[in-house]
Amino acid sequence: MRGRMMDTPLLISGLIEHAGNVHGDQQIVTRTVEGPIRHSTWAEVLRRSKQLAEALTAVGIGVSDRVATLGWNTQRHLEAYYGISGMGAICHTLNPRLHPTQLVYIMNHAEDRILLVDTTFIPLAEAVADKLPSVEHYVVMTDAEHMPETSLPNAVSYEDFIGGQPGAYAWPLLDESAAAALCYTSGTTGNPKGALYSHRSTVLHAMGVSMPDVFNLSRAASVLPIVPQFHACAWGLPYAAAAAGSKLVMPGPRLDPEGLTELLEDEGVNFCAGVPSVFLGLIQHWQATGSAPSSLEMVLIGGAAPPQSLIAALEGEFGIEFRHGWGMTETSPLGAVNTLLPSHRGWPVEERSAFQTRQGRAPYGIELRIVDHDGAVLPHDGHAFGELQARGPWVVDGYFMSDEAKLTDDGWFPTGDVATIDSNACVQITDRTKDLIKSGGEWISSIDVENSAMGHPEIAMAAVIGIPDEKWGERPLLIAVPAPDTEPTREELLEFLSGSLATWQLPDEVIFVDSLPMGATGKVQKTKLREEYGST
Ligand code: AMP
Repeated sequence: MRGRMMDTPLLISGLIEHAGNVHGDQQIVTRTVEGPIRHSTWAEVLRRSKQLAEALTAVGIGVSDRVATLGWNTQRHLEAYYGISGMGAICHTLNPRLHPTQLVYIMNHAEDRILLVDTTFIPLAEAVADKLPSVEHYVVMTDAEHMPETSLPNAVSYEDFIGGQPGAYAWPLLDESAAAALCYTSGTTGNPKGALYSHRSTVLHAMGVSMPDVFNLSRAASVLPIVPQFHACAWGLPYAAAAAGSKLVMPGPRLDPEGLTELLEDEGVNFCAGVPSVFLGLIQHWQATGSAPSSLEMVLIGGAAPPQSLIAALEGEFGIEFRHGWGMTETSPLGAVNTLLPSHRGWPVEERSAFQTRQGRAPYGIELRIVDHDGAVLPHDGHAFGELQARGPWVVDGYFMSDEAKLTDDGWFPTGDVATIDSNACVQITDRTKDLIKSGGEWISSIDVENSAMGHPEIAMAAVIGIPDEKWGERPLLIAVPAPDTEPTREELLEFLSGSLATWQLPDEVIFVDSLPMGATGKVQKTKLREEYGST
């Protein structure tokens, strides 16, 4: 027997209609690419995203066409999320930190028809435009006054593009399983692959991440996504904030600690989210100036493993609640979050922050398990480790325009991460399958060694790779960036590490460098390190 309830589809247009109509006066704040801070509202974003949908229709964009964006976190980029997906087209966010050849590959693979581009990235777009036969129009996300000279074909400013439209668009009633947004994975191996989100997956993810033990969004929240809109849709925050009616503060191009701190303070931000490297910079700035923004209550850090020292500084020194998130482009992205249980709150900071280096528990909507090399499911005892697999309505079942089977025979997505899961369902990532170091038949977790090294006050960043060794198979090599104005030595560091690592886990060599190669999504590029130091 069917339930007697309405079959209303879960659509992205429903999110912006809700935000615009129910939370119309709630603020949307942007540090614009042009410079000044602009204050707007959800009602205005609703109207302007309808104008964008009308403008796209006028130039012949239809259902399932790909419209790409190359931009910072801004109000116009937010309108693109809603205008493009709302009309049934597919919003394809491009990562400007990619190499131009990768950008060309991705845009041609996606057959993008229009590119919405920030003025900052015009040189990048101009450099590749003649290799993009499918792109018919370039819409520069600025107004006529700031529109630069450009060789981009059919270039028009965003304000001119949407300006003449009435903003009375009636969103189509789409199938909720229709494609809505496209985001390519970082492509550390082979060509990048497209995760193709649906309306349904996006809306369910938005509702899932809004919950108290995840992002804890509400009308009272003032949210600043430091994580870029081109990285897994800013972890779903632009959608979740609309569902919850939260204030959204967009940092635009200024991701430096001074710029972010000013915005956090001035806009009363109480929650922000981003990758560890950004917060390492923020913490250093706050330590130097003696204070963190007064309104900031909670941060969610994910995308890579945050060092314990960062967690302890946030919670112990600045009294800001830290939450640890794990996920991937393929899981929309949230797959696990470490929010302390009430019983953990009384623990001393040292013990608590050690626990918080774990990636946490699955939110409702995600199931997680670990399997061994033969695919046998392993126990959740906190000791057995194997590949982490995920399942749920916001996990991919394959890639955009690819026939490659991705799921296990019983329908789980293999993440490529290695993890343990304890009896409280708490996941701890020990490595990427390809980053584990096998030394003398024992596995060494590169993350463990990196975390220990970053616990040393004179180490700002650290990465560990396995290098071939005749006797042991592989041995760990530590590549470390000293903290500003310090000169740590190899001996000192190894002595420090021996306090937390077994002798056989200690790196054989330490190389000090000025910086580590960072990938387009804020992760250390170990492939580059292997190329450079792999035969050391
Ligand atoms: P991406 O699809 O670019 O977001 O990359 C996803 C990968 O980043 C995951 O498979 C993990 O290897 C890594 N990752 C994400 N979050 C964390 C975390 N909290 N701790 C450790 N690794 C993480």
